[in-house]
Amino acid sequence: MPEGDTIHYAARRIRDVLEGHVPDLIATPHPRFGRDRWPERLAGRAVRSVDAHGKHLFLRFEGDLVIHSHLRMTGSWRVLEAGGPPPSTTWLLLRRGDREAVQLRGPVLELMTESRTRFDQRLAGLGPDILAPEIDESRFLRRLREDDPTRGIGDALLDQRTIAGIGNMWKSEGCFAAAIDPWRPAGRVSDAEALAIVRELRPRMQASALDGRPDRWRRIYNAAGRPCPRCGPPALIRARGQGDDNRPTFWCPSCQH
Ligand SMILES: [Zn+2]
Repeated sequence: MPEGDTIHYAARRIRDVLEGHVPDLIATPHPRFGRDRWPERLAGRAVRSVDAHGKHLFLRFEGDLVIHSHLRMTGSWRVLEAGGPPPSTTWLLLRRGDREAVQLRGPVLELMTESRTRFDQRLAGLGPDILAPEIDESRFLRRLREDDPTRGIGDALLDQRTIAGIGNMWKSEGCFAAAIDPWRPAGRVSDAEALAIVRELRPRMQASALDGRPDRWRRIYNAAGRPCPRCGPPALIRARGQGDDNRPTFWCPSCQH
């Protein structure tokens, strides 16, 4: 599942193609857009900016219109050479010059007004973006303390209202880097410890947002049964589902407390 760094990376690439320009072509090949007339509604409007907040991506057009995208488990963005046949799973295509930004498989792709983005519950309720140039740490801590204190810290970090952009891989990697047990209840994790996780993650995720290579930061995610890269062997990385969604969580029981 794409996490915040992947979305920021996509935003950078799309920005290179479109920002400050009127797209040469906008197409919505997916049948669900049949009557929505996006190409007509966006015709002649320049893309003012392309930005991301957590896992949400926004293409802001002149005239108060915004395309909002969230990829969930299935969607993706690509920047391709223009002119070839678009992939069959294309929902949206925006071409300028010899390149095109292509959104595949949705599943959240909507055209909305700028003001609606400010009042939409999902968007207005997002926590501070872990990838923001300056992160509001006190707001992160306030949101964390408003949440259920019995929830494991790993699971609590996935809540986009607490902090936006962390997904399953970075949750495990952040807890490992800070040597904190992802199963420890959030109420027994100090402010300094919670911030340590975020501060370990930020430079890694920022680097990945620049080069699109989160895998080079992976030390324990998907490594169940292998020796701990910090203290093992004999310590082995373990995996177990966590939270309401039973998301796989990786940790070392011997050096994370
Ligand atoms: Zn270990």
